[in-house]
This record gives sequence, structure tokens and C-alpha cells, in this order.
Amino acid sequence: MSAEPQRKSLQLSREEMREFGYRVIDMLLDYYDERANKPVAETLDFEALDAILREPLPREGMPWPEALAQFERQVVDSSNRVDHPRFFAYIPLANNFVSVMADSLAAGYNIFNAVWLQGPGAAQIERLTVDWLRQIFGLPAEAGGTFVSGGSAANLTALAVAREAQLSGELRDAVAYCSDQIHFAVSRGMRILGFAPEQLRKLPSDDHFRLPLAPLTEAIAADRAAGKRPFCVIASAGTTNTGAVDPLAALADLCATEELWLHVDGAYGAPAALTEKGNLALKGLGRVDSLALDAHKWLFQPIECGVALVRDRRWLPRTFKETPEYLKDIQIEGEELNFMDQGIQLTRQFRALKLWMSFKVFGLDAISEAIAAGFENAELAERLLRETGCWEIVTPAQMAILTFRYQPANGDEALADRVTQDLVGRMLDDGYAFASGTQLRGKPVMRMCCNNPRTTPDDIEKTIQLMTRLAAALEAEHGGLPASK
Ligand SMILES: *Cc1c(COP(=O)(O)O)cnc(C)c1O
Repeated sequence: MSAEPQRKSLQLSREEMREFGYRVIDMLLDYYDERANKPVAETLDFEALDAILREPLPREGMPWPEALAQFERQVVDSSNRVDHPRFFAYIPLANNFVSVMADSLAAGYNIFNAVWLQGPGAAQIERLTVDWLRQIFGLPAEAGGTFVSGGSAANLTALAVAREAQLSGELRDAVAYCSDQIHFAVSRGMRILGFAPEQLRKLPSDDHFRLPLAPLTEAIAADRAAGKRPFCVIASAGTTNTGAVDPLAALADLCATEELWLHVDGAYGAPAALTEKGNLALKGLGRVDSLALDAHKWLFQPIECGVALVRDRRWLPRTFKETPEYLKDIQIEGEELNFMDQGIQLTRQFRALKLWMSFKVFGLDAISEAIAAGFENAELAERLLRETGCWEIVTPAQMAILTFRYQPANGDEALADRVTQDLVGRMLDDGYAFASGTQLRGKPVMRMCCNNPRTTPDDIEKTIQLMTRLAAALEAEHGGLPASK
């Protein structure tokens, strides 16, 4: 084959494709081997990256090894390693190789998973995988769902269903309720769906950062008395800040009495239902009307794997189905499912494949153990922090998350604030481990999320030692002793 027509059809030679593919696998394997020895985060600023990467739109192609090398140097090496065993910031994203390969297969075969008739096998796998999730979370047989890009899209999809089911298109005076700990994806979703900010009532959370029942009941009654239309309670199954789980069973009771939709943001925490402790914490999860899940968090999938689940799957097509004339011939009946009718995408990636394949290859027991490891690591971190005597535990380990605050020897709160705030930057500079900060009740705190199953007890121990050392150095720098006023 001459080079010219090949280029026109955007093809590499078979030999080149093999070489390219194997090179990519080797790169990944080297990365997995080396990951724990590399800094957790290496970042370049905009000027530095722009200087390296900016170039004119390429008229002529370049050999693929050069493009690959550039990706490795400038993209991989300037990214936070969110799957590093000592990355404890935000929500760590530890994926697995089986799912990485499954993603490559979905892209390589370019399976169109929107219409039953064009890919019944893929549709059936998505439906089956959704059903496995339904069983894990204890939802009834008539529940269903759809794979989406992530937690934000899952919350948006589920809330669109709640709006349809409860309000039939009339948004006026409608009110939804959540705690002040709700993820911003929910507030943004409500805004996109056309609700004004005051139509999402964010109630102050209780001492354990949960949605408080009595004030919620009162707010609903007051709103009804004022002629408003309460329609939905949005609860968290593991908040991003502290891992707090709202009282799901009590909320389900309340919603049943008040005829409200119960939506649960389980983007982070829902998979914990696969462990004994998590299952206890998530009691009532099976009673929700809809549930948002992020399988790229605690189910170890590569990024972009969310799922929206609804208790009565008929509400998905009622919310999303359209029948344009150019798609009349793909209409189907009975048990066959067109996934384009279940959410906002027509052409969709075959995201279910990765979760399905990893469930099959590892089995649910291994996945449960991997999730349980997160609980154990967070509990170990809490114990070790307490032992140092210089950290205050603000919220204990729950759902693999804990928050804490440095306690200077002189007890000065302003100094504690400064040390806690500056610690994140010091950890980034050091590169050995990374935890992020957040604010609780207006106070800066440190936070560790320990859901990476490849984190070892030694990683936890050395990370706590490092944080304690860096914090003590900051305390000395900021003039910790003697006591300031
Ligand atoms: C991460 C997260 C989200 C948003 O999910 P994305 O996949 O990042 O869009 C929503 N809610 C909670 C509780 C989360 O932890």
C-alpha cells in the first residue's frame, strides 16, 4: 500500500498499529510499577505549559512516537496522580486495568449503545449491569437506570426524572430540600433544570453534618402553609466533606408520609453498601426513589462512569423519550430497551462494559474487600493522628473519610487555622503524599479520603508522620511559642 491513500483514509499500517498499541500498554505498565515512587503531584503553571505546548495547527502529521512522547512528558508528568496510593485529596480515583482494557474495546469497536436494534448485546449488558447495581443497593425489581458520564450527570438525570414525576412540568412554587453539605453538582443540576436558588432549601446540617429531621419536617410544613409545593428531598449517602450519611431510613419514612420524592446523591458513598459497615451506615438506601452513583470513584472504574438509578424505571422514558421521524424504524416494544430513551444522550459510549467486565473478572467479593480496605485505612489514620497528640479529630473516620485540625502547643486557634491552611501547599511541595483541606463551620480543616485499595498501612503511617512534621515546622515558622494572644 502506498503512503498516500493510507493517509487519506486516516489509517496506520497494521504493523504500526501493533507497535503503537503495545507501546501504550508498556507505558501504562511502567507507570503502574513506578507510581508509588513518584511524587503524588507535579504541576506546571500556565506559562510553563503554554510555552511548551503552544504550536500552530499542524498541517503535516508527525510520527506517532513523537506525539506519544509529548503526551507522556507534558500531560502525564504534569498531572496530579489521583490513583497514587498516597493521594488522599478530594476523592481519589483508583481505576483498574480490566476496566481500562474494556474502555479501549468500547472505543476500538466503537459500539453504538443507544438503540437496541443496533447493538442488542451491548444494551443487554448495560441493562444487566444496572440490574446488578439495583441488587447491590437493595432497590426493587422494577427499578432501572442508565450509565452517564459521572456523578454530576447522574444527579441531573435523576432530578430531571423527579421533576417530571412530581411536578409534570410546572415548576412554580416547587421546593426541594437538602442539607448545607450537599454537593454543588446538585445545586447546579437544580439550576440547569430551571429552579431558582430559593427553590432548593439548604438546611443547616446537624452536629454530625447530616440533614436534620425535625427542622426538615418543620420547613416542609411551613412551606405548605405558605402555599408552596414541596416535592423532593435530596439526601447524601456520604458527603464529599466528611463522608456523613443522611438518615436515609427516617427520610424515606418522612417522604412516604409527605408524598415527596427521595433522591440520594450516592456519587461517592453508595458502593460502601457492599461492606458490612457501609451497609449499616446506608440503612434505608433501598427505599429511595432515585440514586446517583459514580462508579469512577469507589467502584474503581476509569473516569466517566456514572449511573442514575430510579425506583420505577418507567419514569426514565417518560422523562426523556422523543420519537423523531428519522428514528421511527428503531422503535421497539416489550423488554427491549433503547438507551437513547433513558437519558439525555443519543449516541453514547458503552460505559457499562467496563463495570461489567471488572465485576466478572474480579468478582464481587474482591470488590467488597477493596472497598472495605478504605474503611480500615481511614480508621488507622484516625488512630495514628490521635496518638500524635497534636491533631484534633474534627470528624472521625466514616465512609473512608476523616477530617482533622492541627493543635498548636499553645492552643492558639488563629495559629491552628494558619498551620492547617498552609499544610496543603507544603504537602504539594514535598510530593510524598497529598491531602487536601476543606472548611467545616467556617474553620479550615485537613481531610483525608482513603478509598484507594492500593494504599498500604505503611503509606498511611508515613503520611501521618509527614503531615505532623510539616505542621510542626509551620507552627515554628509562624511563631507558635510562646502563646500569642
Ligand atoms: C464527586 C461527587 C459528585 C460529582 O460527580 P462527578 O463524577 O465529579 O461529576 C457529586 N456528588 C458527590 C457526593 C460527589 O462526591
